[in-house]
Amino acid sequence: MKILLLDIESSPNVAHVWGIWQQNVGINQLMESSYVLCWAAKWLGDDEVMFDSVHVSKPKKMLKRIHDLISEADAVIHYNGTKFDMPTLNKEFLLHEMNPPAPYKQIDLLKQVRSQFRFPSNKLDYVAQRLGLGSKTAHEGHELWVKCMNKDRDAWFRMEEYNKQDVILLEKLYHRLLPWIKNHPNHNHQADGMVCPSCGGTHLQKRGVAVTTTSTYQRYQCRTCGSWSQGTKQAKASVEVKPL
Ligand SMILES: [Zn+2]
Repeated sequence: MKILLLDIESSPNVAHVWGIWQQNVGINQLMESSYVLCWAAKWLGDDEVMFDSVHVSKPKKMLKRIHDLISEADAVIHYNGTKFDMPTLNKEFLLHEMNPPAPYKQIDLLKQVRSQFRFPSNKLDYVAQRLGLGSKTAHEGHELWVKCMNKDRDAWFRMEEYNKQDVILLEKLYHRLLPWIKNHPNHNHQADGMVCPSCGGTHLQKRGVAVTTTSTYQRYQCRTCGSWSQGTKQAKASVEVKPL
């Protein structure tokens, strides 16, 4: 299974406003709308972190590259990408008259963090640090985006570092969360024998049974990633109740 880790950075919307508190900005006040500045991506398990930006490529070429990668992927891992990265990219694909990428599954680690654990903050930087996985690259804040939009070469160097580091953190977090991830795309769909649904590992240990209302199935725990799964064949049919 080809799994792509992905993170994008986008420019802010630029608007004319007469105040900063509770502003309702009309579309005629919008001077420049947000666009994708750059993306960083990595195939799960590969060493290379790919990167492209409007600083080095024409926007359409940059978008075409990430479109191709997404189309090649069976699943995309991101952090809040269901709400942000993927719809933002789709909007850009549409604006540039590109077709949708080939269908892919999404593994949004923010959704997993939110639904499975109770951290005081669900920010990637906080969660990664708390788990001892490292932190996001420090930068000057909003200024960095302004400098990049003004084509500052040094700022772009820092943006690339920042964007790439997010993808590296994302991969570390993915490996740590793996046995907890619900509805992970199933590795069995592309495997010959029975494998761990979450990591594709073959080292499965029988551990108890999973009982449903109609049947009993063998339950397994993966010795590689720790995920629990169950066999598809009935281990034992439940006792048939004969009508009186
Ligand atoms: Zn596994």
